[in-house]
Amino acid sequence: MSKGRDTAGNDRADRLGIDAPRPEGASEGVALGESTIAELVQLAEQARESAYAPYSRFKVGAAVLCESGRIYLGVNVENASYGLTICAERAAVFAAVTAGERKIQAIAVVTDADRPTPPCGACRQVLHQFGGEALVIAANRAGRRQTWRLDDLLPEAFSLGSAE
Ligand SMILES: [Zn+2]
Repeated sequence: MSKGRDTAGNDRADRLGIDAPRPEGASEGVALGESTIAELVQLAEQARESAYAPYSRFKVGAAVLCESGRIYLGVNVENASYGLTICAERAAVFAAVTAGERKIQAIAVVTDADRPTPPCGACRQVLHQFGGEALVIAANRAGRRQTWRLDDLLPEAFSLGSAE
């Protein structure tokens, strides 16, 4: 299950889409272990380096842990037509869904802001589609970290009822 826990954590390619260590004794909706959270944050920070943010200079990296144990990365990608910009969180979710995932356990978001930056409203809604109980971890590069349950960040999320 938990291959890919190299100590250096440098070889991102080896860690993408690999099995993450399962939180010990954790079940759905239960807080993840510290080592898993730390790994997610580390992967998000590594991904952040690939962010394309020539306009805002606000680089964001995200790492999504899915129920399968696999992790998917995303970065913000800006565009000259500003409104086409996509957030790192949604990029990561879309990568996960593309790979067949349907349930998100946690997402880590890393920025270089003074304070950890939680997902924007649009991303909260998209995340909620795949797991209202997901743990949201926002961290900055200085090591500050804040966590929430997604349902707390987006109470009364929009829903069309039973979607799969
Ligand atoms: Zn967003």
